Amino acid sequence: MERIVFGPVPSRRFGKSLGINNVFPPKRCSYFCIYCQIGRTEYIEIERKEFYQPEQIKKQVKEVIESLKDKEIDYISFVPDGEPTLDINLGKEIEILKEFGIKIAVITNSSLIWREDVRDDLKKADCVSLKLDAVSEDIWKRINRPHKELNLNKILEGIKIFSDEFKGELLTETIFIKNINDIKDEIEKIGEFLKEIKPEIAYIGYPTRPPAEKWVEVPEEEKIDFAYIVFKSKDLNVKIIEKKGEKEFGFTGNLIEDILSIVSVHPMSQKEIEKFLKENGGSFDLINELIRRKEIAEIEYRGEKYYRKVFK
Ligand code: SF4
Repeated sequence: MERIVFGPVPSRRFGKSLGINNVFPPKRCSYFCIYCQIGRTEYIEIERKEFYQPEQIKKQVKEVIESLKDKEIDYISFVPDGEPTLDINLGKEIEILKEFGIKIAVITNSSLIWREDVRDDLKKADCVSLKLDAVSEDIWKRINRPHKELNLNKILEGIKIFSDEFKGELLTETIFIKNINDIKDEIEKIGEFLKEIKPEIAYIGYPTRPPAEKWVEVPEEEKIDFAYIVFKSKDLNVKIIEKKGEKEFGFTGNLIEDILSIVSVHPMSQKEIEKFLKENGGSFDLINELIRRKEIAEIEYRGEKYYRKVFK
């Protein structure tokens, strides 16, 4: 059976975060972002459906929590290798997982937020992070490559309604790509829109891991600085998601399963893998074996080696 729960992984936004991969099979998303670190979208869709029974997820979360050496977890985060709101049971799953007394976060691409049922599900979480990479239709289509039936105006309207109604912590994330959405006019417009919805933190990011399309480039530093200044001028609490060094990944007892479940949603750099193996009594031969079995792939990006799960 697919592993639904992974980690805990260190998250820049959520501290020590136990990840829930509630969408199956990979990669099922309503977008096909040019910078997606999970790889290419195999199934581009907008129909909500059932992937797992909420009880099944709860059982796996319980098992993982019990197996952890260090039981401290800051968040249970819905961060699948796809879009979490495609899961029609999302609201029920959030409710049932709240029984663990750990805060729940959902990281969504916002594409289905025009639907009332999606907003109702998201409202049950303690923290919701919304993706907003563009407010102009042509740029949105170039960067997020949405399902053909999605409508940007409806999405932006849905974000506004949600931000008015949501009582939890609202975050936004904007990923900038060179020559796509890092142009002054679009940065201004995104900032203006974010000002209206008032997120607690407006994150700015850029690709730090191998993107779905090799030609994707990181914006020049001045462009990121410009976006930071523009967002600040709109009274936003802005944070730039920096590329961090080595991180702590959780060990649950099965080294192969742990590595595969983490790299399916979060490609690991060579340094991170080496540290993880060293701490948990493994050797790099294991990675070579997984590459040989075509379970994981080695990718080079900006002079560093990364390891990503191969989807069958
Ligand atoms: S970055 Fe997120 S929204 Fe974009 S294709 Fe990947 S999983 Fe989907």
